[in-house]
Amino acid sequence: MTATTQSTDLTADLRATALAALERLGATVPVAADGEEGLPVVSPLSGRSLLTLRRDGAPEVSSAVGQAAEAFRTWRSVPAPVRGQLIKRLGELLTEHKADLAELVTIEAGKIRSEALGEVQEMIDICDFAVGLSRQVGGRTMPSERPGHRLMETWHPLGVVGVISAFNFPVAVWSWNTAVALVCGDTVVWKPSEKTLLSAIGAAALLDRALAEAGFPAGVARLVLGEREAGEALVADPRVALVSATGSERMGAQVAPVVAGRMGRLLLELGGNNAAVVAPSADLDLATRGIVFSAAGTAGQRCTSMRRLIVHESVVDDLVARLVRAYGNLQVGDPRAEGILVGPLVDGGARERMLAALEEAVADGGEVLVGGSPVDVPGADDAAYVRPTIVRMPEQTDVVRRETFAPILYVMTYSSLDEAVALHNDVPQGLSSSIFTLDAREAETFMSEAGSDCGIVNVNIGTSGAEIGGAFGGEKSTGGGRESGSDAWKQYMRRATNTINYSTELPLAQGVSFG
Ligand code: NAD
Repeated sequence: MTATTQSTDLTADLRATALAALERLGATVPVAADGEEGLPVVSPLSGRSLLTLRRDGAPEVSSAVGQAAEAFRTWRSVPAPVRGQLIKRLGELLTEHKADLAELVTIEAGKIRSEALGEVQEMIDICDFAVGLSRQVGGRTMPSERPGHRLMETWHPLGVVGVISAFNFPVAVWSWNTAVALVCGDTVVWKPSEKTLLSAIGAAALLDRALAEAGFPAGVARLVLGEREAGEALVADPRVALVSATGSERMGAQVAPVVAGRMGRLLLELGGNNAAVVAPSADLDLATRGIVFSAAGTAGQRCTSMRRLIVHESVVDDLVARLVRAYGNLQVGDPRAEGILVGPLVDGGARERMLAALEEAVADGGEVLVGGSPVDVPGADDAAYVRPTIVRMPEQTDVVRRETFAPILYVMTYSSLDEAVALHNDVPQGLSSSIFTLDAREAETFMSEAGSDCGIVNVNIGTSGAEIGGAFGGEKSTGGGRESGSDAWKQYMRRATNTINYSTELPLAQGVSFG
């Protein structure tokens, strides 16, 4: 069989598997009409187009926002615990269809099976969280300075939430936003990544089914399938009260001024340049396992992937030797195959950017210790498989300070914790960080105001793999947004302060007298 025939067979197999999963999910696939310029669905497993879908542009986005704005007028008054029941049903459907949705995530985002199933589990977890939240969203009561008065706050839904998501968490990011936004009484319009359209169609079909079963309008949650132009239309629409955008720092820099210009609300979840500090007391066996998962897992395509390692000079040689050994055992290939731990990069552009970054690192004096080369996978000539890479750097140069969305781990050394923290924080991004140490002083210092400047600061685990119970997000060019657990729900609601006078007098605050 020739390589071309093999690629054709693989593409046909992926198409058939994806369409079968979508059928089980009860999804309608909006295939483009003949001659229509549609959106290609490309699987990174083959690098080839599986089918072409209808492309939504500004008019379709406007219509979806209109439907969501209309649905909001009734949805906002449905009691929050009843809204929670919808999310409970969504969680049940996700549990029932976990394998189907995970299959689409593997085919479109290239995740190995266990990670794809983990992504859907994260959706189920946030549904559980949001159901509980539906009976808890509420405000405080504060003492009034005036007799016979009560001071309190009430929380109300915002309106339409526009969700823009990235390819690497094709469905989980939508669910973090949507489960919470819906129990808060908002309605949602979702523009997923143009690279993961089938996963989005599958996930949205489950929510459509839950809405129909409960007799709620479909406008409560809408999906638009488009590229950047569709995202721009969503961002600019004044009826969208909150834009929750996940993606690159570049995208965030384009979106932020538009939303700020119309005084809309913004929740940004952008790129990270996450590092671990490895101290002399670290358990190196545990550190090695944590680092390999965070740096090479998901082929380095998580926003929380570990990209920098800042190691005390006394343990660097030992740690690097362990890591190089572990990287040598990583199997790269079709993420559906048994034993494979590293799937493909999303496309050829991502591989080019990785190879260019490695060239720049070497020109800066970096030494490639392991990996760094493309990998040929039989039958997948157009796919972009690479071997995860470790590069020893003499210092933190520009290339290290940028996020390259690929499995490159830059190793640098330090001699004092102050120096390690300074190096750690000296990047534009501020998403996730960790320290491996058995010294309580070092761990506490790293978590203190004098330590890591990130939104996520871990001890003795890697930088990736967050749980939904905490608020997720980061500082600086990562955008400052928080979503998922803790009190992130407050971003999806507006607060009203109420003063109630139950006396017969009208005393003014601050003792002011007026007439
Ligand atoms: P991307 O920025 O290329 O695209 C993300 C989304 O934004 C897509 O849906 C795209 O169509 C849309 N978009 C692009 N330009 C736009 C514009 N001007 N206006 C409106 N929408 C626009 O990102 P990607 O390659 O899909 O994903 C990888 C990036 O996402 C990485 O930088 C990664 O770190 C980041 N990411 C961050 C988080 C987080 O929670 N912080 C999570 C996942 C991914």
